[in-house]
Amino acid sequence: MSQPKKDYYEILGIERDATDEQITKAYRKLAMKWHPDRHQDPDKKKEAEEKFKEITEANTVLTDSDKRRKYDQFGMCDGEGPDFGAQGFPDFADIFGQMGGMPGMPGMGGMPGMGGFPFMGGFPGMGGMGNGNVHRQSKSNQEFKVKLKLEEIFNGCEKQIEIPIEDICNDCDGTGSKTKKKKTCTDCQGRGVRTTVRQIGPGMLSQQSSPCSACEQKGWVSEGSCTSCKGKCTKTSKLNKTLNIKKNFDHQTKMCVRDAGNYDSNSGRKSDIYISFKISDLEEYGLKIANDYDLVLEHPIHIADALSGYTFYYSGHPNKNKYVFKLNEVIECGDVRFGKKLGLPNDDDGHLTFGKLIIKFNYIYPKTVLTPEQVKSFLKEHDDTKSINKEEYIKEKLFNIETEADDEPRGRSRNQRHGGEQEGGVQCAQS
Ligand SMILES: [Zn+2]
Ligand SMILES: [Zn+2]
Repeated sequence: MSQPKKDYYEILGIERDATDEQITKAYRKLAMKWHPDRHQDPDKKKEAEEKFKEITEANTVLTDSDKRRKYDQFGMCDGEGPDFGAQGFPDFADIFGQMGGMPGMPGMGGMPGMGGFPFMGGFPGMGGMGNGNVHRQSKSNQEFKVKLKLEEIFNGCEKQIEIPIEDICNDCDGTGSKTKKKKTCTDCQGRGVRTTVRQIGPGMLSQQSSPCSACEQKGWVSEGSCTSCKGKCTKTSKLNKTLNIKKNFDHQTKMCVRDAGNYDSNSGRKSDIYISFKISDLEEYGLKIANDYDLVLEHPIHIADALSGYTFYYSGHPNKNKYVFKLNEVIECGDVRFGKKLGLPNDDDGHLTFGKLIIKFNYIYPKTVLTPEQVKSFLKEHDDTKSINKEEYIKEKLFNIETEADDEPRGRSRNQRHGGEQEGGVQCAQS
């Protein structure tokens, strides 16, 4: 039983590294749009039901860290899809984490058959909750990725960046109004939510809260349209910043610029911008990254060299140092050795360490079958280090990866260190 693979990230219109908050936000937006209750036309309703199922399925998987990991690794797993069955679709209030109060129905312990949903986990406290104003939403974050070259990481640099933002429209003070004034939404009386009461059985009433679509939960609407922003409240702009990348920079660092990103007319606040980094020129050095901070180098080696105590002169390290490694042993094809502290800088709360340089030796084989004479000359020792100025090289030892890799003192893991601002793991950029 395998289903065609669906791209949940595409369905929700988010990046593959989206945070839980971004997922929820995207889901809510789409859930509002595609909720079957909002579509009356039968054809449209059918389409909406399909879409709604799809986005809910995507949300269910991506907001469950375990399921998300499996999905990222293996693609779709069967049986994750929602089954709305006879109970119908969840109400808006549930999608937005609000409980519709249900007066007159104490003791009802939750809805049957709906236990599998993140937003349907029973209805605790039924009978009095609900009607909370939905429109005070928490602040959203914005993410921005900055490309860094290896040389910039090892040497440091000043990096000019330009972050596109939707800034507040100064012509209307972010009201979207010609008059710069906000008008209370008449549909919801400024509460941002609308409440409807309906009869669900003899003597039983259900009270439902749903976000007000007339004001998009803000509780206010614009008064005439601002000519400058056409009522959007924001204008496309740019934030220029200079980042100080210090010598031996930890590329896993996250910087945060507070209250400088997109303006949200709903909350009246600007988002925080989280800046992360990506190394852009690994390929030029023939390197790859492993374990966050290790650099992996694949190095071709002649068979004769591998059998006769090879000396490896390495001048391609991005820290600009030249290293010589003397291997007094037979190297098998695919053997891996590592150089301590020759990987990427790792800033462990101000304590600087480095990852490893992992070298994988690959044999050079002839491209075609050789005659016995050609084999002899192919295996003949040859020295391609004659032109090298050996004085310039620093002597370094290589270690056997299986037995000695764990001798390294272990810093705290990256997740612990950069786990979030609560732990102080996020650096704040100077404005
Ligand atoms: Zn309203
Ligand atoms: Zn405006």
